[in-house]
Amino acid sequence: MPGRLRTYLDWNATAPLLAAAREAMVTALDLSGNPSSVHGEGRAARAVIDGARRDVAALVEADAAHVTFASGATEAANMVLTPEFRMGRTPLKVGKLYVSGIEHPAVREGGRFEKEQVVEIPVTHAGMVDLAALEALLEAHDAASGLPMVAVMLANNETGIIQPVRAVAEIVRKRGGLFVVDAVQAAGRLPLSIGEFDADFMILSAHKLGGPKGGGALVSRGEVLMPKPLIRGGGQEKGHRSGTENVAALAGFAAAARAAQDELAARNERIATLRDRMEERMAALAPDLIIHGRGMARLSNTTFFSLPGLKSETGQIAFDLEGIALSAGSACSSGKVGASHVLTAMGFDAALGGLRVSLGPTTAEGDVEQFLEAFARIAARRRQGVAAA
Ligand code: PLP
Repeated sequence: MPGRLRTYLDWNATAPLLAAAREAMVTALDLSGNPSSVHGEGRAARAVIDGARRDVAALVEADAAHVTFASGATEAANMVLTPEFRMGRTPLKVGKLYVSGIEHPAVREGGRFEKEQVVEIPVTHAGMVDLAALEALLEAHDAASGLPMVAVMLANNETGIIQPVRAVAEIVRKRGGLFVVDAVQAAGRLPLSIGEFDADFMILSAHKLGGPKGGGALVSRGEVLMPKPLIRGGGQEKGHRSGTENVAALAGFAAAARAAQDELAARNERIATLRDRMEERMAALAPDLIIHGRGMARLSNTTFFSLPGLKSETGQIAFDLEGIALSAGSACSSGKVGASHVLTAMGFDAALGGLRVSLGPTTAEGDVEQFLEAFARIAARRRQGVAAA
């Protein structure tokens, strides 16, 4: 409906660009130099990248020298998920990749590993990586094939459930494996520390934080252990990721990372209050409502719910017609809504649809009110067997 007010409740798919990020990007777009050039123009562009590296490193308490910029988290995942590593000058082989069943496809697809080298770690019905199953898998790992690598996300993009990465790290360490943490959804929502998590690598994306789409980073614990480059060429990013850097995107990423650092606690408190009240009212409106991960450690902005009898696709369209942008789990490039692999991994019937509401720093009470009004109508229509108007 043209002119109709829309409410954006899909922040886990992407966050609107922050004003500070836009400003930093516009300024950077006017820098004429190539950051690899040694002249003044080049050095000015280089300075923006150096600053961005410091800001992104600060977000995860890493050393700035350990940040490798990429075109997004998917590229960062493909950079690190490879059987071929180097420890200094010595080649190091990874034999198998173990990924949890609830990972984002960017990780679950296994990067540069062959399909048969990728092993799924089961998750519990409650949506947490099954630690006992991981222990058993690593115990059975054939060390002759190379080291084991484990990739587990810090917070799930659909349910928001926070994963026990520290406990995962302990299991991985006992087996001398490598540990990769996808922190894409946690960034800007939880305090992050690569050292605290005892991760070898972390993956970040700019656009989930209020930075631009098409920016991301692979953060490493040190500089000695590094994956075989995915993109080779002019040797930018210390040879780990060639290609002239997207200076403006990195300037925006940095501005978003700074804002996330500065506002983390205040944002979380406000959003958690808004989300918890919203969930209480949803439960009152539809007593058969299932809120996945309610009562568990979860991102404060995320509600992933199922209304028995309401299919994901039907629900998403019904809310869209009500002016509300929410999603059926992860955003799929085809625009199609498939069964949620997260719900399936948690042992739910694939036919049970899931819908995700994700709030952000500028979500207002009025937005939640508008959602609740639509929710009440859609839940009632569903009971009459006509979910979509
Ligand atoms: N990992 C998680 C948990 C995500 O939610 C996403 C994006 O939805 C990605 C990775 C991929 O990030 P990007 O869009 O930067 O490639």
